[in-house]
Amino acid sequence: TPPNPLLDGKALAQKVRDEVREDVARFVAKHGRPPGLDVILVGEDAASVVYTRNKEKASNEVGMRGRLHRLPAETSEAELLDRIATLNADETVDGILVQLPLPKHIREDLVIEAVSPAKDVDGFHPINAGRLATGKASLVPCTPTGCMRLIAETGRSLEGVRAVVVGRSNIVGKPMSMLLLGANATVTMAHSRTKDLPAVCREADVLVVAVGRARMVKGDWIKEGAVVIDVGMNRDESGKLCGDVDTNSARTRASFITPVPGGVGPMTIACLLQNTARAAWARMAAG
Ligand code: NDP
Repeated sequence: TPPNPLLDGKALAQKVRDEVREDVARFVAKHGRPPGLDVILVGEDAASVVYTRNKEKASNEVGMRGRLHRLPAETSEAELLDRIATLNADETVDGILVQLPLPKHIREDLVIEAVSPAKDVDGFHPINAGRLATGKASLVPCTPTGCMRLIAETGRSLEGVRAVVVGRSNIVGKPMSMLLLGANATVTMAHSRTKDLPAVCREADVLVVAVGRARMVKGDWIKEGAVVIDVGMNRDESGKLCGDVDTNSARTRASFITPVPGGVGPMTIACLLQNTARAAWARMAAG
């Protein structure tokens, strides 16, 4: 075990942002306009307000044209779909992100499917999910993309290794499994119905946990020398931010482990910027 197995997501996210900034400069030089990211927030959910502001700010910091649309909580489904249609048709808009969760009276599925797949920088549209599953180029959800970049940073090859993903959401677990499979790992998808989860986790050379339960995964669930990616963002009983993995006990067995905060979290926005730049180039290439 190396002396410090903690993977620094903050530093890596900064590196990704610097890469995107250079890419944006190349895009501006070639196309005479910056890539545009439009973020839509419906309502006043406190966490969502912070997330969307951060996304707008981060995009402007790398030289993009970032814009936040704040719509009132009582916005109708039709009004939201209308706004999305306007952005779909706007040539200066490369990325459209509708912040989830949406108010109860709006159908999330309809909204996700209304975003043009070419501008779907969250990678949530079924067309992009299907492209990922069939091994075609697509816009890939930001959090799993960030996890793959963190794994790459360890220098470990994924070829043929046992990877276990705990959690099977469309946003994190499922696309994560697809990316690992694409990298030739042997992938197990675990979830709330999995029998003997600790034993399944102990098989993992690479363990990715995206569940949403504070410190659920214990140190003795970790295979000696494993790479552990902790996606969870939870508050413990004392209100402290923590992951799905009990970092203190797990870090004595893992070769590499992402801390919470400072691991996967910072990578998500960095990968959103990367997706926006990628979407912009792809749209311009498609003409
Ligand atoms: P969801 O609630 O959509 O999915 C949770 C998954 O965990 C489900 O598949 C569920 O299984 C599974 N699960 C629940 N309980 C257990 C259990 N006891 N044992 C095994 N599996 C279980 O969550 P998300 O995927 O959206 O997010 C997961 C976590 O990641 C959350 O803490 C969230 O805050 C965090 N997150 C962090 C991000 C970041 O940028 N750092 C971004 C996105 C999420 P089943 O399907 O059977 O119900």
